[in-house]
Amino acid sequence: MIRKVLFISIALFLVLFTANCNSAETDLSQTYPNPVLLISIDGFMNEYIERNETPNFDRFLADGVQAEYLIPVFPTKTFPTHWTIATGLYTENHGIIANSFYDYELEDRISFGTPESTPNDERWWGGEPIWITAEKQGLTSATFFWPGSEASISGVQSTKWIDYDGSIPNTTRIDSVMTWMNPQGDVRADFGTLYFSFIDSRGHRYGPNSPEVDNAVIEMDEILGYLLEQIEINHLGETINIILTSDHGMAELSDEKLIFLEDMINLDDVDIIDWSPVALIKPEEGKTEKIYNAIKENEQNYNVYLREELPERFRFSNHYRIPEIVMIADVGYTITNRPFYELRGINAATHGYDNLEPEMLTFFAAKGPDFKAGEIVPAFESVHIYELMAHLLNLTPAPNDGNFEEVELLLIRD
Ligand code: AMP
Ligand code: ZN
Ligand code: ZN
Repeated sequence: MIRKVLFISIALFLVLFTANCNSAETDLSQTYPNPVLLISIDGFMNEYIERNETPNFDRFLADGVQAEYLIPVFPTKTFPTHWTIATGLYTENHGIIANSFYDYELEDRISFGTPESTPNDERWWGGEPIWITAEKQGLTSATFFWPGSEASISGVQSTKWIDYDGSIPNTTRIDSVMTWMNPQGDVRADFGTLYFSFIDSRGHRYGPNSPEVDNAVIEMDEILGYLLEQIEINHLGETINIILTSDHGMAELSDEKLIFLEDMINLDDVDIIDWSPVALIKPEEGKTEKIYNAIKENEQNYNVYLREELPERFRFSNHYRIPEIVMIADVGYTITNRPFYELRGINAATHGYDNLEPEMLTFFAAKGPDFKAGEIVPAFESVHIYELMAHLLNLTPAPNDGNFEEVELLLIRD
């Protein structure tokens, strides 16, 4: 009899204990964040969807929230701007000052996108990107391309990441990220990225107002349609928060709008860390004033500054990689020298200019259970996106320059 009572008590205890565990599990899953997918369409302008038939973008915007426009950081080049989105830091605080630059302390040049470069070395990358914040705090990240996503940061990397290879088809990128984020799959990533470069490439080659770019935009719309389908198939339709954005716009160039540096200074007196449309000029020891004065005298179709005199809003003074003289071309102008120009010519269009120039402004939209639907909100700076993502993922953000209050208006209030 005693044995029987003991047996029943133990059984009862086990039932209650298991029930308790279950309810604890349920509670946990209730506070678990919705997954976030961050997508960059490189070089995407708001007007691209305004002037083309884009049913999938239209659907996305109807279901989601759009910013009037997004203000990128200066300089409006792919690596500085993407690294700001990822870290919430201004350029002077993350140190990715151009797509290609020399570091006099590391005594090495980094050139993104070229095989001989060493972009994975973590010494280049200042700040903490959101995928690392997520991993450090127990979430899982899966990045299928993002500038800087190949580097380990404080020894940490995304659970899934891949070396950049622009030839990997866009649908393959989507298929992989969907598999990684599928809540019934093996990885169950909480955070994912996707990156598409072909609109930017077409923009450089043919110009932002070309039929080639229009065709690329229609292709991008189909890719977005494919992604939205895959989101449903992969059981993410109800939960995923998607941020669809870009790094900068695009401005037409002209062979009539050239600034030849050798007409003003002796190029042997300087190192040009990057050329155009922002020339980063490091004069030889003791020659800064002479070089600066020579360029300043001719100031037409560009602005030239000593590093410390750059307007504060550029947030481009306070990093040792920024050299003594910074020259910023007016939109449409190219800073070059004759031998280079004669050999290589110029593209149809580019970016990199002042981040407040209308042509450099870019696109931001988002959709998902935490975002408002069918609204357009005022423009904001890309530096705040890190705080937004940290909030969506319930993460404590690393120190950064963003401010959650600037982007709170995108979200449904709890
Ligand atoms: P931009 O020269 O500023 O227009 O940069 C766009 C180019 O950057 C793309 O066409 C790619 O070739 C390159 N790119 C983008 N992401 C990466 C990456 N993660 N690693 C290396 N190169 C990249
Ligand atoms: Zn870009
Ligand atoms: Zn580009």
